[in-house]
Amino acid sequence: MSYYRTLSLLLCLITTPLIAEELVILHTNDFHGHIKATQRYAGAAKISAYVDDLKARHPAVIFLDAGDAISGTPVSGMFKGDPIFEVMNLMGYDFGLIGNHEFDHGYRKIARFREIAAHPLLSANALGPDGRLLGDAPYALLEKDGIKIGIIGLLTETAPTLFTPIGNEGLTFLKPADLLRELIPELRPQVDVLILLSHIGHENELKLADEFPALDVIIGGHSHTLVEHPIRVGNTLVAQANHYGTHLGIIKLKLEGTPLSITETFGDLIAADELPEGKPEVENLVSLYESKVEALVDVTLTQVDYDSSADALQPLLENILATAAGTDLGYYNRTGIRDQLARGDVTARMVWNIEPFGNTLVKMTLSGADLLILLSQEPSLHHAASDIDPERQYSLATNSFIASHASLTFGEDITTLDTGLMIRDILIEHLRDQGLPPPRR
Ligand SMILES: [Zn+2]
Repeated sequence: MSYYRTLSLLLCLITTPLIAEELVILHTNDFHGHIKATQRYAGAAKISAYVDDLKARHPAVIFLDAGDAISGTPVSGMFKGDPIFEVMNLMGYDFGLIGNHEFDHGYRKIARFREIAAHPLLSANALGPDGRLLGDAPYALLEKDGIKIGIIGLLTETAPTLFTPIGNEGLTFLKPADLLRELIPELRPQVDVLILLSHIGHENELKLADEFPALDVIIGGHSHTLVEHPIRVGNTLVAQANHYGTHLGIIKLKLEGTPLSITETFGDLIAADELPEGKPEVENLVSLYESKVEALVDVTLTQVDYDSSADALQPLLENILATAAGTDLGYYNRTGIRDQLARGDVTARMVWNIEPFGNTLVKMTLSGADLLILLSQEPSLHHAASDIDPERQYSLATNSFIASHASLTFGEDITTLDTGLMIRDILIEHLRDQGLPPPRR
């Protein structure tokens, strides 16, 4: 705080009778099952130590998660997400959100997550085949130390393109802006602070802030964006805390007057190494689950003497799939590569982190023209795209996620054969037997 700001605050304290309140919002997003502490990730125990301590000392703290709590680690994959919500119960969350990855085991599993989680999972725009909301509630109204708070939960309407269609038939995702147009006039008059808990991605969240100035705060997710200090759009703060628990987000809102209105804001990210020692109770539960997977995944497969980003891994993984399936080409979607490799030992755990979804290997035949359409979904030009002849037929090895979406898009124009082999097992076997070639320059 600047000297001038401090001085003017002091003057303000002297001249006006002060009825000030403070609301603290702590937040995570895209935790993706990273309950265990590592060098990069705080883990559940350290985060909960900070949350517990602050809640004990401050009367108005809420702790929010902006979705995609599961899918990303062996412990999440092997137990289909359940342990993550069990651990989150010890972390003191007040509200969570349904993200697109909460659909990874089919939408029926969300009912189970809601059962396990002690905190409500919000979602105003995800509807089941019967037209009913899949979350606990579309929004929440609560009061903390006299501050009235509203929290609306929304997920990106593009969700069906992001999860497997199997087990997710007949779902509807309403447009977030339509819901906000409906809910804000209803909720705004009832609250002092209106929060959007959002799994829509940072760029779109900035747009929503612009379109809906009545929102005070957007706690974002989905794009895994490290927003060091919340971006201010008009009077709306747009925050996001990277991913995997590398950071805990914190926002402080100072409120004054009757009715209360926000007069000052502060926002920051607390990095993993700035958090206190982990709570033993949480560490114990994490260890209990981790010990069940350690023997299977903490085994060294090979060593590499270079760092590999997800971009660098893409052609390597595609080669491995094409070799395993005996096809012309391999295609592994870039966004499906969920972690990178650092130089040193490559363990099976790292392969699980790269491919947490349990996809299977699928052989596909399709025309070059359709293949080019498939590859055009990539965020940047696919390295093989320039060599593909639109007139030719290709055999392609890919994962079941891409194959099921391709079947929906191209119908009978393509053929698919699911080998039933887990991609993760193929990668583990390949790395163990043949290592990983250095990336192409
Ligand atoms: Zn997401």
